[in-house]
Amino acid sequence: MSEISKNFIQKIIDDDNISKKFDNKVHTRFPPEPNGYLHIGHAKSICLNFNIADEYNGKCNLRFDDTNPIAEEDEYVRSIQEDVKWLGFDWENRMHFASDYFQQMYEYALQLIKNDDAYVCELSPDKIKETRGTLQKPGTDSPFRNRARDENIDLFQRMKSGEFENGTKTLRAKIDMSHPNMNMRDPVIYRILHAKHHRTGDNWCIYPMYDWAHGLEDSIEGITHSLCSLEFEDHRPLYDWYLDKLDVYHPQQIEFARLNLSYTIMSKRKLKILVKEKYVNGWDDPRMPTISGFRRRGYTPKAIRNFMDEVGVAKRDNVMDIAKLESSLRVDLNKRSQRRMAVLNPLKVVITNYPEEKEEYVVAKNNPEDESVGTRKVPFSKILYIEKEDFMEHPPKKFFRLTIGSEVRFKFAYFITCNDMIKDENGNILELHCTYDKDTLGGRSNDGRKVKGTLHWVSAKHSIPAKVMIYDRLFTSLNPDSENSFIDFINPESLEILENCQLEPDLKTLESEIPVQFERLGYFFKDLNSTNETLIFNRTVALRDTWAKK
Ligand code: ATP
Ligand code: MG
Repeated sequence: MSEISKNFIQKIIDDDNISKKFDNKVHTRFPPEPNGYLHIGHAKSICLNFNIADEYNGKCNLRFDDTNPIAEEDEYVRSIQEDVKWLGFDWENRMHFASDYFQQMYEYALQLIKNDDAYVCELSPDKIKETRGTLQKPGTDSPFRNRARDENIDLFQRMKSGEFENGTKTLRAKIDMSHPNMNMRDPVIYRILHAKHHRTGDNWCIYPMYDWAHGLEDSIEGITHSLCSLEFEDHRPLYDWYLDKLDVYHPQQIEFARLNLSYTIMSKRKLKILVKEKYVNGWDDPRMPTISGFRRRGYTPKAIRNFMDEVGVAKRDNVMDIAKLESSLRVDLNKRSQRRMAVLNPLKVVITNYPEEKEEYVVAKNNPEDESVGTRKVPFSKILYIEKEDFMEHPPKKFFRLTIGSEVRFKFAYFITCNDMIKDENGNILELHCTYDKDTLGGRSNDGRKVKGTLHWVSAKHSIPAKVMIYDRLFTSLNPDSENSFIDFINPESLEILENCQLEPDLKTLESEIPVQFERLGYFFKDLNSTNETLIFNRTVALRDTWAKK
């Protein structure tokens, strides 16, 4: 990589390597709290941490920051592992849990108390907030700030052994109640919380606060560069203060800008509301910006990783256009998807001059971008389906599809001319009567005759019914996170279910991991609930950006 294209984090690491700050080691970590499913913003952090480690021949840990028992669950621990793996990253044997360090963190806290750097405070959480002051006004010292050392030790031990109720005591760092950085005004280190933890059960009733825990986790694991998002910039002095006071191994915290995407919310808290209140069908609903949602919808890890490369790493917050992610997806799917034909809104076509019983198989390329995946045979017969919107009785100018008297190509098959239509008593078109030119097999004429339109089709006798889900953006607002009530901006048309689609027969047996392009309609992916009885496909993305026109 050239010096110029390096991002600011790589430059910091290069400098550290020159000064031998970490003995030329690079060791990062991805530290999710298991309180929800991972979203596309987490993917940014995952790619950043694992890629940086990889570039410098270093290591990256997966660490569960499970310090808050109330919100955390094993289900999330499992899904996080699955998502990181799916993105293509490997933490090898380095999966850690903050909860494994609870005893060590407790001992470190005792050490702080012994050094007179922490005290047990009996102010209520509200009182602590009240006495913190403001940016303009210094805070006021807690009346418990000068408690004797031995009394602090005794009380802290009794907090741990469960003698006190929730909220009655905290352990606080003794820093400076008039510090210009509010985070340094005697922050809480431990709180009492009688709650069952998903891993440690009832062993603990005091739990460490984030700032205390995070630096220690990094230190214990020998992390060199602790990459976190910008909102922790003001917490860095505290991160450093704890590690300095304890005189332990001291990683470097570096902040980068979060990924924000247009039309997308990225907060686990809000995503959880969508799930719990059933605005979507679960965390992996294909409309969700979760990694599991993207996976189910048919996004590829490569598309997401390429997008993250393109986005880069910045020091200032900005909002990325989701169309960029979609275009990265199209580039990847165009290369790897198999082409098939599918009719989403079928209209019956009878080829009147085609023999009643005859069936034949026309040859179709599986992927014009990749000859190695070969061809397949597609059945053709007297009765076919085409897309309703590919026929118009009264077409506008420049309509090159089917109308009475026009000739078009049925892809891979024949030139077809429409002669007549049959309507029901309400004037709805029931079927078209067409003729084929038997000398145009393969969709080519041998007399130099040209047609302008090419339609996709399926043979009615052979096609298989399916349900197809068409997704649109989940939010109508460019920046739903900034709206007062993001719920009000849910797109009521984010899901359209097409119940009567007809697919080319081999889509039934096509392996479900293979992405497909339905000719002319977009990229599609078999849903995980799809069965041989009820085939279900999700549209991953349309062939073109339809929002660009809006
Ligand atoms: P949320 O606000 O969605 O709950 P979080 O930061 O609380 O996210 P964590 O589980 O603590 O969720 O995040 C794990 C890691 O992922 C953190 O290092 C965090 O900085 C990073 N991360 C979270 N959201 C983003 C984002 N949008 N862009 C980049 N990194 C992110
Ligand atoms: Mg968090």
